[in-house]
Amino acid sequence: MSLSLKDFKIFEKQIILKNIGITGQKRIFNSKVLIIGIGGLGCPLLTYLAASGVGTIGIVDPDRIEMSNLNRQTLFSQRDIGKFKVNQAKKNIYRINKNIKIFPYKIKLIKENIKAVFKGYEIICDGTDNYETRYLINDECKKTKKILISAAISKFYGHLYKFNFKKKGSCYRCFMPEMPDEDNNCQSDGIFSPVAGVLGTMQANEVLKTILNFKDNFSNQMMVFDSLKSNFRNIKLGLNPNCKNKCSK
Ligand SMILES: [Zn+2]
Repeated sequence: MSLSLKDFKIFEKQIILKNIGITGQKRIFNSKVLIIGIGGLGCPLLTYLAASGVGTIGIVDPDRIEMSNLNRQTLFSQRDIGKFKVNQAKKNIYRINKNIKIFPYKIKLIKENIKAVFKGYEIICDGTDNYETRYLINDECKKTKKILISAAISKFYGHLYKFNFKKKGSCYRCFMPEMPDEDNNCQSDGIFSPVAGVLGTMQANEVLKTILNFKDNFSNQMMVFDSLKSNFRNIKLGLNPNCKNKCSK
């Protein structure tokens, strides 16, 4: 793919970075990323990936926009209430970048469809709000050796994980072997809206670094953001010998 003068102008500020250049920008154009959940995390994540020029983005979400989404789901407005998130997100993103392909999937990910949806995407981003889907995504990424960049938010806190299943290492089940009784999600717990923005943007940061093949020092780690203390902590995620996915074998 060649870079037009217009493309060069649009992406000039990242192309001039010495670690990116024209080669890096072409790599971004040619990348394929799947985002699961177009909510508080998915909105900033999709915005930054599209604005950076990620060429193909799949977006998965079965839900319609509700009034209570608007404090953090910044791609939507009051006029969008009742519309499907994936359709509206696609429409609004094309105002930022028309030259990319967005494939909306108006479905809930389940065991029966996950394989077909994941096909063709190398990097999978999880921004869902329930444990069942989180485990399903983790297991499929592990099985098909994909890169999983996952975030979770609740109240004033956020967690970010990256698992590169192309290499040996831990998975989500390694440190969360049993499904907790209750989902921690924005519906029941509440969410401080900038936390969604910070974590969705951090997901975009990890996705772009992965595409650009930057030296990876974040895989198999968890980053915890505390918005009250304004700090980030990184925690190494070790292999669990009892993990169902046999990560230590
Ligand atoms: Zn594991």
